[in-house]
Amino acid sequence: MALIVQKFGGTSVATSEKILAAARKAIRAHRDGDQVVMVVSAMGKQTDMLVDLAKQISDCPPAREMDMLLSTGEQVSVALMAMAIDSLGFSGVSLTGAQIGIMTDSIHTKARIKSISTDRMQKLLDDGNIVIAAGFQGIDEDFNITTLGRGGSDTTAVALAAVLGAATCEIHTDVDGVYTTDPRVLPEARRVHRISYDEMLELASLGAGVMHNRSIEFAKKYGVAIHVRSSLSDADGTMIVTDPESDQQAVCGAAVTKNEARVTVIGVPDIPGTSWEIFSRIAERNVTVDMIVQNVGAGGKANISFTVPLEELDETKSALRQAVDEVGADSFTCDDQVSKVSAVGLGMAAQTGVADRMFAALSEAGVNIHMITTSEIKISVLVHRDQAQAALRAVHHVFALHEQPAGVESIRSLERGENAVRGDVAAIVADLQGADMEELVINDVSLDGDQARVTIAGVPDQPGVAAQVFQQVAAAGVFVDMIVQSFDGVDGLATLSFTVPRSNLDEATAAAEGLRQQFDGLHITRGAHVAKLSVSGIGLRSHTGVAIRMFRTLSDAGVNVAMINTSEVRVNVVVAGAEGDRALGCLQAAFDAQ
Ligand code: ADP
Ligand code: ASP
Ligand code: MG
Repeated sequence: MALIVQKFGGTSVATSEKILAAARKAIRAHRDGDQVVMVVSAMGKQTDMLVDLAKQISDCPPAREMDMLLSTGEQVSVALMAMAIDSLGFSGVSLTGAQIGIMTDSIHTKARIKSISTDRMQKLLDDGNIVIAAGFQGIDEDFNITTLGRGGSDTTAVALAAVLGAATCEIHTDVDGVYTTDPRVLPEARRVHRISYDEMLELASLGAGVMHNRSIEFAKKYGVAIHVRSSLSDADGTMIVTDPESDQQAVCGAAVTKNEARVTVIGVPDIPGTSWEIFSRIAERNVTVDMIVQNVGAGGKANISFTVPLEELDETKSALRQAVDEVGADSFTCDDQVSKVSAVGLGMAAQTGVADRMFAALSEAGVNIHMITTSEIKISVLVHRDQAQAALRAVHHVFALHEQPAGVESIRSLERGENAVRGDVAAIVADLQGADMEELVINDVSLDGDQARVTIAGVPDQPGVAAQVFQQVAAAGVFVDMIVQSFDGVDGLATLSFTVPRSNLDEATAAAEGLRQQFDGLHITRGAHVAKLSVSGIGLRSHTGVAIRMFRTLSDAGVNVAMINTSEVRVNVVVAGAEGDRALGCLQAAFDAQ
């Protein structure tokens, strides 16, 4: 007898017929001998309707009251689900987050789970009941109702699967699995048989709305195998597990966040501490910052650009009005007409020539790239919103994502194999008791002192430039690690920086020099010895404080940050080579001390 968690999303419980259909699925598993915990979302668009209603009353409703309001959606659906199970002749018991004992912090509307008690659920299961848990909600230590953020029922489901030691966590939704990109946006998207936690984490936080990104953090941390499948059929869907679908492909998926905004702070004094000051002001308001790019400009002043979700732009602006004065920057500009398009894949960490293929495809599609950032397993570009769809299609096509890669095993054998990885479930569950479940985990702080940097300033902001540079670099067989392209905020010019192994610096510089034939006024500099410092772990992006803690530590040590990139599992910064060892020591002290 196994214990399984089955989560049903909003569209899968949108009507009474659908609730009954979901109840029948749970009953079938129960009859087959499994203990079943259902996690249920609010019906259909109920949460959106409640948000709308609140907005009609107030422009700025108190977050505590929003949680009180939004949690009612799930309370309705769990009660109806229990009635459905009862009407079909079985016994179901509905529980709210508070009744289960899902304890969270007090950050209303974005609360994190601290602990979950299993006693009540386990007793109900042992007594032969199907347990029906309300998704998306919890309770803080003062008994206030909290919610986990939009889409948070996935996180409830995976967290319950973790603490209960479930054999699998099934996510029943309105698509039959995880696709290479949103199939509603690109019909040529392909359903993948399996995807790794790291890839799904990146895709989820870069726009693939099929899973709440924090649910994948849980799954990775506690080794929960997730099966994403259609609520309308019994066909196999996609397993989210440790390994990727194929170890031969560089890219496994693409995603777009349509509503993004770009912010550039101009004329920031290029002295340690300014980035920290700026980002801590923004983090205080719980804004999630991405694509941070900093380039040293003329006269000891730098420009820092980054992106934020469009709906958080107003908060960001108000934080910046304060920060710009404090750090002595000149001004800031914003562009609210941009979208972020990303390619993700574990395979790109080991293959050359991935970025240049993406840039070439975008160039051929006539897409202008405003900004670029990369990490080990993703490449993100910022484009004008009108070009987002064309950009996504070009990226999907160039990596042949519509085609199944070689060597894909069948899903059933994967599911069984991966569950074995969980090993001693009792030990894992014991480990969880008393732990702060969504606490940031830092696995490693490391230094790569063997890199060099090339920076090309004065690059015209027009389609095809990045493609030309990286085609030349790839033709020389050079592995490019970090790439950032900034928006300079002046004269339609951009600055492009990248790092390569030190032994390849000459080839990389030659490729950059080759651009002078096409473009006037380029300014090419190189750092023959730079150090890349990395902090790796789980929860790095949802805990916005990690990048800030790195900035602050380096700033206190008087070390200047030349480049930065962030991903779900790692934050990297590039500093002068001579500073590498000292900076590493400071970061180790800062992160071990937590
Ligand atoms: P639920 O209400 O069941 O939680 P969601 O609407 O949150 O469902 O998630 C399912 C939707 O996610 C799909 O209808 C699809 O349009 C969208 N989606 C975005 N990216 C992807 C992807 N890569 N694969 C599958 N679906 C995706
Ligand atoms: N009902 C919540 C929402 O719509 C949570 C969820 O469905 O996951 O965001
Ligand atoms: Mg969802």
